[in-house]
Amino acid sequence: MDTVDSATLDAAAAAAAKGEAPASVVVNTASLWPPNGSVVFRNVSMRYREGLDPVLKKISFTIHDKEKIGVVGRTGSGKSSLMNSLLRIIDIADPFNEGSIFIGDDNIATIGLDRLRRGLAIIPQEPVLFCGTLRYNIDPFNEHTDDELWNALTLSGLQSVVMNLKGRLVADVEEGGANFSVGQRQMICVARALVRHPRILLLDEATASIDLETDQLIQDTVRKHFQDCTVITIAHRLHTVLDCHRIMVLEAGEIVEFDSPFNLLNLGDEFGSGGVPPLTSSKPSKGSLASLVRDTGKASERKLKAIAKQRESKRRQGQ
Ligand code: ATP
Ligand code: MG
Repeated sequence: MDTVDSATLDAAAAAAAKGEAPASVVVNTASLWPPNGSVVFRNVSMRYREGLDPVLKKISFTIHDKEKIGVVGRTGSGKSSLMNSLLRIIDIADPFNEGSIFIGDDNIATIGLDRLRRGLAIIPQEPVLFCGTLRYNIDPFNEHTDDELWNALTLSGLQSVVMNLKGRLVADVEEGGANFSVGQRQMICVARALVRHPRILLLDEATASIDLETDQLIQDTVRKHFQDCTVITIAHRLHTVLDCHRIMVLEAGEIVEFDSPFNLLNLGDEFGSGGVPPLTSSKPSKGSLASLVRDTGKASERKLKAIAKQRESKRRQGQ
């Protein structure tokens, strides 16, 4: 499933790269659309093909501009399908699907595919780079200066790697990025997202294929440099999303929980109010996140709860 996920996300990036922007004009489309980073699903039911059962079932939610959202759920629960519908890899406007999706207040059915996909940045799970130069891979629409590219490479820890390449920014990238390690390929995608800096970032967290150091670097870079963006992270490891503003838990195509980690883990009693009312919960927690957290083992559970408490402290301090 993970390979399929990455392939679809990469297909989206590749499709976007074949867009019709005039080569010689510098246009920062990211600043044009979407006007804000809100994402709204209204009653969305999604099937992969006519006649199949829906894999998203009447899903409704609102993600606010600049919110950091973690999406979790067991395998097959619909996490990638959510991303696929957002990118219109599967189109909700098809007659066998239902509902509507809004990004930055626009119904995405009314937005051209190229514009839609250029309005979002994607850091896929197992990125496959395009044949061409490194520059083309980081800035496929040729919209940015060398300085901007070097800045993104520095922030993603690739500066010295690229300095040592023959041709540096115009070094050749072999098919699929074979001349780079998996971790470096992932960081090249981070650099691509950094130079574009759109209002919405979709991050499909890597699984076993990536070393922990690179994983940490990705998380740190995203936290630091995408603060002013909406970030939606599909998480395979809970510790990366326990400090999100809210976590969406999917089960068999339905949202069973969507709230702050603090509320979902029922940490109120352990925390004390400190004079500030807890974030109001729209629904009482079903305990799904709590059970996923418990499944990671006692020591890890303690750590995860500590991260959630820290996030709540920050919220109470207005951060
Ligand atoms: P994982 O954690 O394994 O990546 P996921 O939460 O991302 O799982 P999805 O890939 O969204 O789950 O799958 C949700 C459902 O949709 C599953 O039942 C899956 O079998 C089905 N599905 C996924 N991709 C397709 C496809 N291309 N065609 C038909 N059904 C699909
Ligand atoms: Mg998936």
